[in-house]
This record gives sequence, C-alpha cells and structure tokens, in this order.
Amino acid sequence: MTNETPAPRAIGAGELVTKADLKPGRVIERWTDTTPTAIRVPMPCHERQHVTATRDTVSAVAVCRACSQTYEMVLEPDFDGGHFAILTVAHVPHLISRQARA
Ligand SMILES: [Zn+2]
Repeated sequence: MTNETPAPRAIGAGELVTKADLKPGRVIERWTDTTPTAIRVPMPCHERQHVTATRDTVSAVAVCRACSQTYEMVLEPDFDGGHFAILTVAHVPHLISRQARA
C-alpha cells in the first residue's frame, strides 16, 4: 500500500484531542514548531506542554510533564521544511523524576 492517507482512526493535526481519545494505541498527529536546531512537539493531552527533539530525531518516547502521559513519537519531514509528529498513545506509562538529569 502506498496510500499516504493516515489510518482512519488517527486524529488529524488540526483536530482537538479529548481525554477520551487518549487510549493506548490511538494515533494522534500534531504539527510541530521547527527551529534551526530543534523541533518542538506539543503534547496532545496538554497543548501548552512541549517536548523538544533535535532535527536528527526520527523516533522517541515523549512524556508529558503535566500528567505523565506517554507517547511513542515519530517525526516525519513535512513539505514546507518543518516536521510532522505522529504520536501513538503508549500502553505503559513511564515514570519520570522531576529532578533534572545530572
Ligand atoms: Zn498531559
């Protein structure tokens, strides 16, 4: 299949996400804010929370600092030179410390 249309159940980048949508395996697309050095991805659960990836990042695990919701994140180059994030709601939350890494 070479069809580039997202799977039917994916939530599009321009669509609002509700808590009911945050079920494991749910695919959520988001636009990102790409700068010369970094890619900022808004969290679907809390739009004011962002994770920051480098331009070399292809995939990562993203954790919301507000609610610890975890996503498997894939970044794809967009037509305009920016990036497009595809976030899959993770099955198992990661536990993270609020302390900064040494
Ligand atoms: Zn959140």
